[in-house]
Amino acid sequence: MNNSSAQHATPKAILLVEDEPGVASFVVRALTESGYEVVHASTVRTAERLWAERQPELVILDLMLPDGNGIDLLVAERSRGSQTPVLVLSAKSAMSDRVSGLDSGADDYLPKPFGIEELLARVRVLLRRERANGAGSLAIGGFCIDFDDRRVTLRGRTVFLSDTEYRLLELLAKNYRRPVSKAEILEHVWDDPQRDDNVVEVYVSYLRNKLERGKSPRLIHTVRGKGYVLE
Ligand code: CA
Repeated sequence: MNNSSAQHATPKAILLVEDEPGVASFVVRALTESGYEVVHASTVRTAERLWAERQPELVILDLMLPDGNGIDLLVAERSRGSQTPVLVLSAKSAMSDRVSGLDSGADDYLPKPFGIEELLARVRVLLRRERANGAGSLAIGGFCIDFDDRRVTLRGRTVFLSDTEYRLLELLAKNYRRPVSKAEILEHVWDDPQRDDNVVEVYVSYLRNKLERGKSPRLIHTVRGKGYVLE
């Protein structure tokens, strides 16, 4: 669809959180055959880690998990600022009113048992919506980043960024208000978590020079021991 040279090195994945091995392997296979990259978690703990590490494009979330409830995970991720679309998958009897009302921050839900075609159709709808507008842009004060056009403006004027600068800024913007560690940055932007993290400081300072000139309010904050946060 897009110019392939503009694509990112790490493909976006769907995170499937499901503890029933039969359902999980069936769904993983169907999604993989449809061309999606899938990461799978069978516990809340693993899901939390993968959510932070992989920045999935979509999460398919079962509710009854061995170490907790998927809803609590969802509420926690939303309170951390995650806007990743979430499709809740659960036995109808396990759905509280909170879930069916989608008040917990879910974007859609599918009662079990479900047909795989129905699941794939819901996934397509959520991803299309996400790509069309959900991921669209982030505007704070006079700063705006448009994820589809990879365009950054400051008080209406285009800010020219190198590819690396853009990818670093995009990662921070997609985690708006959530601190991103240097290790996460190295992994997502340089595809190399082992790399010397001085390079992160260098690129953060390049971005600050371009985005925080003059009287601009500070956008990228250093969070001691945690990394960087855009807010
Ligand atoms: Ca379950």
